[in-house]
Amino acid sequence: MQPEVMTARPIQDGSPRETARLRRTLRGELVLPTDPAYAQARQVWNGLVDKRPGAIAYCAGTDDVVAALSFARENTMPLSVRSGGHNVAGNSVCEGGLVIDLSRMKNRSVDDKRRVAWAEAGLTLAEFDGATQVCGLATTMGVNGDTGIAGLTLGGGFGKLGRRFGLACDNLLSAEIVTADGRVLRASADENPDLFWGLRGGGGNFGIVTSFEYRLHPIGTEVLAGSIVFREAKARDALRFYDEFARTAPDELSLDAALVTAAGERMFSISVFHSGSSREAEMAIAPLLAYAQSKASNESLGRVPYLQVQSAGDALFPRGRRYSWKAQFMRELSQDAIDTLLDVYSKAPNDNALIVLQQVGGAISRVPVSETAYACRNAEFDCFPIAIWDDPAKDEINIGWVREVWAAVKPFSTGAVYVNNLGNEGEERVKAAYGPNYQRLVALKSKYDPTNIFCLNQNIRPRTAG
Ligand SMILES: Cc1cc2nc3c(=O)[nH]c(=O)nc-3n(C[C@H](O)[C@H](O)[C@H](O)COP(=O)(O)OP(=O)(O)OC[C@H]3O[C@@H](n4cnc5c(N)ncnc54)[C@H](O)[C@@H]3O)c2cc1C
Repeated sequence: MQPEVMTARPIQDGSPRETARLRRTLRGELVLPTDPAYAQARQVWNGLVDKRPGAIAYCAGTDDVVAALSFARENTMPLSVRSGGHNVAGNSVCEGGLVIDLSRMKNRSVDDKRRVAWAEAGLTLAEFDGATQVCGLATTMGVNGDTGIAGLTLGGGFGKLGRRFGLACDNLLSAEIVTADGRVLRASADENPDLFWGLRGGGGNFGIVTSFEYRLHPIGTEVLAGSIVFREAKARDALRFYDEFARTAPDELSLDAALVTAAGERMFSISVFHSGSSREAEMAIAPLLAYAQSKASNESLGRVPYLQVQSAGDALFPRGRRYSWKAQFMRELSQDAIDTLLDVYSKAPNDNALIVLQQVGGAISRVPVSETAYACRNAEFDCFPIAIWDDPAKDEINIGWVREVWAAVKPFSTGAVYVNNLGNEGEERVKAAYGPNYQRLVALKSKYDPTNIFCLNQNIRPRTAG
């Protein structure tokens, strides 16, 4: 007989005995609504998320994670798992339940001879990159230093090195995980390989990952990077050039782009990054520079520390502002798609709004779809409008614009979406993220989390009775 999916109940105000027991068990800290630290502790990166958990368990290690999970299970309470707290959907906090927080688990080590890094789940990208760059090594991580390595890697993880080395999850060698039944398992190509497959893209569906082991690559500490900006009048032509140039670029070259507003004017900006030698970089970007010479309004390129590039976008996305985005993948930017993008961007609700084109492809697309849970291997660009604002009275207009952009761009998309860029958009969109891998993920979920304890995520529902 198949088990029933668990129905969770919130922490009751009258359960001080249970919480006192958990507080005594934890090496880390338990924060309750009555504690002064609570107001800060319940916050996540997206200021739009306003949930009031019953308790927040800051874990100090795997033993704490096991204890917190067992407490939530025994008391049949909702639980969420938080590492960087950066996800736009805000699923890492819950209403009334227990937040299992790993953000204080920051141990790491780098073996420069084997080119392997071991990292606990609480590290941010900036902390991880900082440790590997001491030896001139790196692996693919995202573009915002404040993001958690855990959520990023478990959903896939793309960034400026992705076209050369694959996704963060493609560089994962092993992980330690606490499963729904409280076991501590290692997942790798040799141990629990089915779980290892699921962890590489399947998000937080299979348990709580406490540490990751990554393959590293020697990239040195400097790369060629910078931006090329085109004014509104040149944007249509520049987008056409960008589409062709980016899709034929070598793997070392990564070209994210965005429609942005600067000093009240709409602009198209290309963010250039090349991780190869100076000579290779110069050759690779020569056609772009030749094009930009007569058309761009501003160009600033040079060799800069890799760590500087990895934190360059941080100021744009501070914690606590209100954010909304809605993503979809594209294979190319047809003329109609370009016209549509420019049209919808002209209706942006304020000057902070942008439409991002994050380039993927390259090595990411050469991994077979069945190799990992991550399935969106055939795209060139992840396209998403981002609205940023502070006034709650402006929620509707900002969220409305994001939805409008997404609907207008949909005819040009592959139909797939990056699971880490999903909001709370429902089961069909989760299925769109996993495509042909979805049924295998359902089978894995039914094996490792049959009662769906880990349901506050981009949820893959286990098979249930009936
Ligand atoms: C400004 C910004 C820039 C971004 N840029 C990129 C980018 O360049 N590339 C990219 O790939 N993504 C990017 N992302 C998306 C990012 O990968 C996701 O938001 C990711 O979920 C963040 O991880 P986190 O640990 O901070 O998330 P959290 O909010 O802490 O967690 C999100 C979810 O991940 C799961 N989870 C977290 N930790 C664990 C764990 N230890 N074990 C099991 N499950 C866990 C849980 O289901 C949780 O609900 C960006 C996001 C933002 C906000």
